[in-house]
Amino acid sequence: MIEKIKDLEEIARQLEPDPKQKQELTKMVINHTEEFLSRLPDENAYFQNSEPENQDHLSETPTKINELLGFLRSRVEYDGINAASGGHMGYVPGGGLYPSALGDFLAAVSNKYAGIYFPAPGAARMENMLIRWMNELMGFPPNATGNLTSGGSISNLIAVVTAREAAEVKAKDFDKLVVYLSDQAHHSLQKALRIAGLGEAQLRYLPIDDEFRLNISTLEDIILKDKASGLIPFFINASLGTTNTGTIDPIEEMAAVAQKHSVWFHVDAAYGGFFRMLPEICEKTKGIEKADTITLDPHKSLFLPFGTGAVLIKDLKSLYKAHRYTADYLQDLVDSDSEVNAADVSPELTKHFRGLRMWLPLKLFGLKPFRAALEEKMLLAQYFREQIKKEEGFEVAPVPDLSITMFRYVPAHGDAYAFNERLIKAIQDDGRIFLSSTTIHGKFWIRVAIVVFRTHKDKIDLLLRIVKEKKDKLNV
Ligand SMILES: *Cc1c(COP(=O)(O)O)cnc(C)c1O
Repeated sequence: MIEKIKDLEEIARQLEPDPKQKQELTKMVINHTEEFLSRLPDENAYFQNSEPENQDHLSETPTKINELLGFLRSRVEYDGINAASGGHMGYVPGGGLYPSALGDFLAAVSNKYAGIYFPAPGAARMENMLIRWMNELMGFPPNATGNLTSGGSISNLIAVVTAREAAEVKAKDFDKLVVYLSDQAHHSLQKALRIAGLGEAQLRYLPIDDEFRLNISTLEDIILKDKASGLIPFFINASLGTTNTGTIDPIEEMAAVAQKHSVWFHVDAAYGGFFRMLPEICEKTKGIEKADTITLDPHKSLFLPFGTGAVLIKDLKSLYKAHRYTADYLQDLVDSDSEVNAADVSPELTKHFRGLRMWLPLKLFGLKPFRAALEEKMLLAQYFREQIKKEEGFEVAPVPDLSITMFRYVPAHGDAYAFNERLIKAIQDDGRIFLSSTTIHGKFWIRVAIVVFRTHKDKIDLLLRIVKEKKDKLNV
């Protein structure tokens, strides 16, 4: 057996490269990322997908790092959307701050487990400090808590199950629960309801006005009617920045109705939450402090790489009711009086130490450049809108609340919907800028979502040139 152990050890030790090998690996990887980043300013935001036939497979034997990086370059990085590019203005991007990559590197090397205070008090404190900062930014009280999640969808899920526990409704009555939202609410909310077992809950879609904002005027009447017919008004969702149009719902009025009728009030601020770093947006989003739960997405308007969301929660008791668990093998854990364990407030147990990828850039740069970048993106959206509006035949959506704007071309003859379908296709095929489109109440709109920290005025000017060029080409 001893011999066998020794033989296995020799092979197993290959999992720890020696210092020289490590240095070589790191150098190769850094050379690779440096090349990627140096090409980025002039690189496409979209590449036609590579052939689906994929040679990748695993084997018993090692492969050289240069071969692997080559594969990554040709088969992964320059394929589909270039999400790191300042030309990516589709969906809701973010870019991916470089120090976050270094934070991930540091987190992975030490492999600290930040899910529970006892095994890594410093890591747990770091994540809780970030949550406290976000709570403060949203006007939440100091005893509010939260969790760093993998994204807005999981944040919405945590919010929904916490609300479900707080409502103390038996499963047999789930079909009596009513959720109020606009048809512009993010689909992850419906998904969360279904995962939370509330698929039978009734959804009341409130209409949006001409500015794509949820129209509050009927909300209270609908709630009263629902109550009168024996239903249970359960959850009101406000969007702080809808994904489609970037519009801010009337948060303060919705909060008042929620409070008056004791309905759980959730603000989905996955896209727009961090714009509250700007005083004018704080003013525009008053009432958010009355929410029960808030969803944020640092991988959107805080520019982190994909994989970091956040949920903020006031009611720790219901949060624990939904998520806290203990097990025999965890018996030596000592709870901290002041620090919440991430594992007690989320579906995760073992988790990525994702606080480090958020903490490092915020500390390294300070908050000021984040604030500047957010204001710059808002102004760029207004600039684009003003410029395109001046062009013959272009129609624009209302003045944006944040940094998403929309436009469409209305040809003198023929179908506007079909024309814009061809226009977005031509822009995407060009690849220098990536935009996505949407349909609202039967109208086809092309969206410009300016959220990547690398998007500056030069990219917007390039976009204006591309749009005009493609429109002219389609018009002949
Ligand atoms: C992006 C988004 C979500 C979902 O977040 P993910 O991070 O993609 O899971 C939820 N709500 C809104 C408003 C969003 O923009």
